[in-house]
Amino acid sequence: MKTFKQIFSEAQNKISGLAAAPGIVIAEVYLFTKETLEVNDGTVINVEEAIQNFEEALKKSKKELTKIFSIAKEKMEDERAVIFEAQMMILDDPVLIENIISRIKKEKRQPEFIVNDEISRYQELMKSANEPYMTERAHDIEDIKNRIIRNLQKKRWISKIKNDVIVVSDSLTPADTILFSRCNVRGFITDHGGLTSHAAIISRSLNIPAVVGTHNATQLIKDGDTVIVDGFHGYIIINPDEEQLNFFRTKAERLAELQRGLEELKDKPAVTNDGKKIRLMANVDVTGEIDVVFSSGAEGIGLYRTEQILEELNEFPTEEEQVNIYSNLATRIYPEVLTIRAFDIGGDKFKFLDFREGNPFLGLRGIRLLLENPYLFKTQIRAVLRSSVNKNIQFMLPMISTLYEIKKAKAIIEDCKSELRKEKKKFDKDIKIGIMIEVPAAAIKVNDFAKEVDFLSIGTNDLIQYLMAVDRGNDLVSDLYQEFHPAVIYTLHHIVKEAAKTKTPVSICGEMAADTLAIPLLVGLGMNALSMSPVTIPYAKRIIRKLSFHKSHELAQHCLSFTSEKEVIAEIEKFFKDNLITRTRNII
Ligand code: PEP
Ligand code: MG
Repeated sequence: MKTFKQIFSEAQNKISGLAAAPGIVIAEVYLFTKETLEVNDGTVINVEEAIQNFEEALKKSKKELTKIFSIAKEKMEDERAVIFEAQMMILDDPVLIENIISRIKKEKRQPEFIVNDEISRYQELMKSANEPYMTERAHDIEDIKNRIIRNLQKKRWISKIKNDVIVVSDSLTPADTILFSRCNVRGFITDHGGLTSHAAIISRSLNIPAVVGTHNATQLIKDGDTVIVDGFHGYIIINPDEEQLNFFRTKAERLAELQRGLEELKDKPAVTNDGKKIRLMANVDVTGEIDVVFSSGAEGIGLYRTEQILEELNEFPTEEEQVNIYSNLATRIYPEVLTIRAFDIGGDKFKFLDFREGNPFLGLRGIRLLLENPYLFKTQIRAVLRSSVNKNIQFMLPMISTLYEIKKAKAIIEDCKSELRKEKKKFDKDIKIGIMIEVPAAAIKVNDFAKEVDFLSIGTNDLIQYLMAVDRGNDLVSDLYQEFHPAVIYTLHHIVKEAAKTKTPVSICGEMAADTLAIPLLVGLGMNALSMSPVTIPYAKRIIRKLSFHKSHELAQHCLSFTSEKEVIAEIEKFFKDNLITRTRNII
């Protein structure tokens, strides 16, 4: 049988990208295109014909939406499906339709221009209400506008999101990813996006193999093609031949076998062969993921990204709704701990603000936005506190860069506690408060910051982005997004060393914790806890159980002396070889 290298180097029908979520899948493609439509601004000669065209386009759009709405009701929760119902209502709005028709008559301009102009005004009006809910609705209307224009231009509509397909798209928002996952999507391929873009993170969480940042997948892959996605190596084979199919089918079978083996590790501890215990916790991004947390053998939830609730609901949940969500999760995970992270809004996540920021990753994000919106922050804090009665919740603050932010947030938490006391509502008065270390300023001054909090969690996704000045979602600079850059390793070492002075517990909840190559290094640097997407926990556990802490420590010391990422990676790979430890990536 040929080796992977032979199969891949001989293949003419291949493309590659970044391996965003592990797994091998062979399935049919659904090409998801978000077309940018050119609007024709010309005059019309035959007004009657133009109006008739508009009415036909309207009818066709309605038909399409009725179909989408019925699929939505079947596949999605009600909150999402109503979006389409609201869109259908717009198509029936007599004032809007009258306006468009009378403008076509009066101005004798192309209907597509008038439709664009009229509906855009509608959107502007909604956005000017300056309410997040209305801004979201304005986005929904964009789809209506494009739909009518597309139908006026008599362009094709890909109507069916089939089940069991691999979605190929230019890019995917977190919302797209969640939406498609409900259609039993088998894999994702995108032209753009980096390894830590939220679409990639969600794919990993949902255990859907994904390759991102291919640059040209949407040009080379056609709707209905069969492709193989190798989410371990970041490879895609388009319309595979018999030999390639057989090869990857065998690999997929081996993978399934390996996964069965991993299940046996579920109840065994993650302890090195010389007795050092590492706590493996789960990152939870989507509420539905909790079942995977249990089957993974996680010791608690190290990161619950609450901003995902906003993505799912498309609006801010009330205090009661949040109490419901957090209490449920806390009860299910009890007696293990649930680490709730305050809404990390901004960056590439949920859009709350009406205006576009030039540099969203350096803008009003995480704690900065929460302190600017105390009502929003307090609603969440009150809900977290009220859910903490069983004392297994801890609360974590994202994007901390100054001591002032910690002190201010703690003061707000104290205010909320006093309010609840007055209202005679119960909560854990000793709830632990921690911070994410993901801004270089916090990493450098970690000793001062640690004195103020109960625990630290290193967000390597952002920490690397900010240390390297490289956008975590931009594949054009993904070569510079270096997890093993000496500056990154030095910073991790510094954080662990400084936090030890105040005996403040440190964990990592960024994607680096889930990189099997990084594990010996992180253990050797002295990390006691790693939090990762639950599907990767068994892989991490298997490696930890084969490690010697003593040797890992030596490895980390070596790595600290190198001057390039290349040297660090070579040293760690050698470590795996010398110690006869296999990684999933090598097996598959
Ligand atoms: C991180 O930055 O590493 C992290 C865990 O937070 P997020 O990925 O949600 O920004
Ligand atoms: Mg972060």
